[in-house]
Amino acid sequence: MEEYDYEELVTATESFSQKRLIGKGSHGLVYKGVLKDKKLVAIKKPITNTSEVVHDNSKLDNEIRVLLSLRENPHVINLLGTSQDSSNNKLLVMELMPQGSLHDLLHGCTTPPTWPKRVEIAIQVAKAVQFLHEGKPLVIHRDIKSANILFDSNWNTKLADFGLAVLKVDSQVSQPAGTIGYLDPCYITPSKLSTKNDVFSFGVVLLEIISGRKAIDMCRNPASIVDWAIPLIGEQRIVEICDTRIALPTYYMEATIRHMLCIAARCVSSNEDVRPSIGEIIRVIEIRVVQRIRFPIWMSFLRSVILLRRRQKLARRWQARCATHQQGDVHAHISSSGKLLLKEVLADITPN
Ligand code: ATP
Repeated sequence: MEEYDYEELVTATESFSQKRLIGKGSHGLVYKGVLKDKKLVAIKKPITNTSEVVHDNSKLDNEIRVLLSLRENPHVINLLGTSQDSSNNKLLVMELMPQGSLHDLLHGCTTPPTWPKRVEIAIQVAKAVQFLHEGKPLVIHRDIKSANILFDSNWNTKLADFGLAVLKVDSQVSQPAGTIGYLDPCYITPSKLSTKNDVFSFGVVLLEIISGRKAIDMCRNPASIVDWAIPLIGEQRIVEICDTRIALPTYYMEATIRHMLCIAARCVSSNEDVRPSIGEIIRVIEIRVVQRIRFPIWMSFLRSVILLRRRQKLARRWQARCATHQQGDVHAHISSSGKLLLKEVLADITPN
């Protein structure tokens, strides 16, 4: 972990100029920076206190503490280092996520993602949550939402914004916190803090990924995505939930989407005991993907390799015969090898 010289960050961001500003949260301003070695980074700077407003920067300190306790993971934002300004305010230097957030992708003006991409995003976010819930120390993120899921240059997701995250080893009691629309309604007292709070928020994100609807949309009735989607899932009206901006999922993909919606419904259940663990969520989604996508691809690849090899063998045999046999014999051989080939093809494609 590097401790960056504050002046290097000033230079990297052209004195934290407006044109380098890439994001604004309630606690920090995020700037794009170019370090001395030309590395592109994201620099999060606390919002400095003014005479009228005093900002609480404890969230940023907490984010540094939690990120420092984590190992590197492909689906969690990577903290590269920290820095400190002359007033002892901490700054975070993170890897740059140049493609924006899942919130931008789903609700911005860009082309909406395809169904396979949506499934991929759901799995990657779930893997980030699994890393937190099953790792040592156990971490509860408490602010899982589409705006905190960012894309790298290859459009892979990383979970960011650990300002509210809690290390389970900490004895200190945290007041319930999160974002309206994603916040678990059961989490009303500090004692109700658990991984199930993140599972609830993840369920909301799943509904958002599939429907393209915002977690809270005041222009719709009901405004809450959970209140809108749960009755539809209960009545198996899957197609009505799917994002209408893209073509309906194909037959196989629809089965995967149906399973994802069923698991989302369990995640947002008001009965915490019904909510699945993040490990179970990944198993349910991945099994569908492996069965429906990978398995047939591998099967057809193997079949075509076997068929090709058999055809080559038969062709070699036939050429050898052509060279030694009379014309009449060759005709007889063509028809018998043709039958043989048909038999072998049928044997290959007929399930046992
Ligand atoms: P909140 O008010 O949601 O708690 P915050 O003050 O903790 O926000 P972040 O959510 O971490 O701030 O960051 C604000 C915005 O900055 C994000 O929504 C995102 O658009 C952008 N951002 C944050 N980190 C990065 C990064 N590593 N790369 C690119 N953009 C980023």
